[in-house]
Amino acid sequence: MSDLSALVPDLQERSGGACELCGATEGLRAVEVPPVDAPTSDRAVLLCPTCADGLTAPDQVAAAHWFCLQESAWSQTPAVQVTAWRLLQGLREHGWARDLLDTLYVDDDTLAWARAGLPDPSAVPTVDSNGTVLQDGDSVTLIKDLPVKGAGFTAKRGTLVKGIRLTGDPGLVEGKVDRVEIFLKTEFLKKA
Ligand SMILES: [Zn+2]
Repeated sequence: MSDLSALVPDLQERSGGACELCGATEGLRAVEVPPVDAPTSDRAVLLCPTCADGLTAPDQVAAAHWFCLQESAWSQTPAVQVTAWRLLQGLREHGWARDLLDTLYVDDDTLAWARAGLPDPSAVPTVDSNGTVLQDGDSVTLIKDLPVKGAGFTAKRGTLVKGIRLTGDPGLVEGKVDRVEIFLKTEFLKKA
């Protein structure tokens, strides 16, 4: 990570000396908004320690702190919008974050930038019917009877499926039912 302290005066001016996500005024530092070729204030945001640390581990920060995104996600500064959008993607298990992403207007260039900086461009989390994030190896319960095409049986509601695997599609996971490997729609699953 490059030394960004040279950007701080610019960012202080742009932000009015406040964290560009939550408005806090203590301990502010410049944080890059990747991908970055050369550090510029256009590709950086000024953040308080809570927001800056939360970028890498949003779960370590109380979810209520991120309510600040309901305002900052509408920022006119693309770097701020990109940062807020990425955080919201990581918070999709929360209804308010999904609602905000649905209503948020992000122009195409900003959206492309926001997506480019995600660890994996298709890294939309896979979530169950309650919005709980699913991961490889999780166990899930079927919440309705599902006919298994081609296998000639119905996977019954309440069936426990252990050791699921994520697929490239956030709407589908793979798991074994009656020793048959099948794709399961996440909308019909609940994390066990
Ligand atoms: Zn902050």
